[in-house]
Amino acid sequence: MVIDFHTHTFPDAMAPRAVEGMASGADMMAYSDGTVSGLLSGMARAGIRYAVLAPVATKPHQTEGINRAAAEINARTGQTGLISLGGIHPDNGDYRQILEGLRAGGFRGIKLHPLFQGVPADDSRVLRLVECAAELGLIVLIHAGDDPNYPGLDYASPRRLLALLRQVPYQRIILAHMGGFNVWDQAQALCGAPCFLDTAVALGPWRRKNGELSGEKPLDSARFVRAVRAHGVDRVLFGSDSPWSDQAEALAAVRDSGLTPAELEAVLGGNGAKLLGIRA
Ligand SMILES: [Zn+2]
Repeated sequence: MVIDFHTHTFPDAMAPRAVEGMASGADMMAYSDGTVSGLLSGMARAGIRYAVLAPVATKPHQTEGINRAAAEINARTGQTGLISLGGIHPDNGDYRQILEGLRAGGFRGIKLHPLFQGVPADDSRVLRLVECAAELGLIVLIHAGDDPNYPGLDYASPRRLLALLRQVPYQRIILAHMGGFNVWDQAQALCGAPCFLDTAVALGPWRRKNGELSGEKPLDSARFVRAVRAHGVDRVLFGSDSPWSDQAEALAAVRDSGLTPAELEAVLGGNGAKLLGIRA
């Protein structure tokens, strides 16, 4: 069973504008239209059973609407295989109430994006939020590394993420993009840290908006396999970052990377099923 632990969708009415805006801002090609139905057809093509949606509240006032839409998605997980995390912004002053509400509503966790949210990963507002999520047992998926929308901004650098992990050691934190999108060397410092890593767009290739291959090189297969083993194969989760990569291509890249069948089983779904409490 394959679980894609890192995907994005937008409400139908805003998907075209949201995807176009980010594709232009980051000069990245979108492989789906960013709607729920676009994601479902990608999953069907790739043979993916479950996908975890990671919505980001870029402003504190968006939290409520995002979580209402996410709850609707979670009400249909049995039919669709879609599991949405909740959104929350580090500036939500009533964060404890929001997190308790998410937990009571059956949410598995939350997504944070230091660059889109404008708050560094080791800021006290993030620390208090992660501490509270830890008390409640919620998964915390955090963007890691650069983001092509914010060139040069280090808010999710491996150094800051390590500072966060040191201050809030919590085993259910997931650092996206193998710990550091586009800063693969720095991300090595996170190998073996007490957290999960996801594989989203770490194996590439990703494409410019016009369809050309990006010149920036993600991890090659040998380096990816070394990183997975050095970190711990039981704490790595397959993710595609759909719509920013093709789910089938992302899956093939991990399958062809050189991991053993047992390692693949863990990374592609076994670890995720345990973390989500799903029977494989
Ligand atoms: Zn993402």
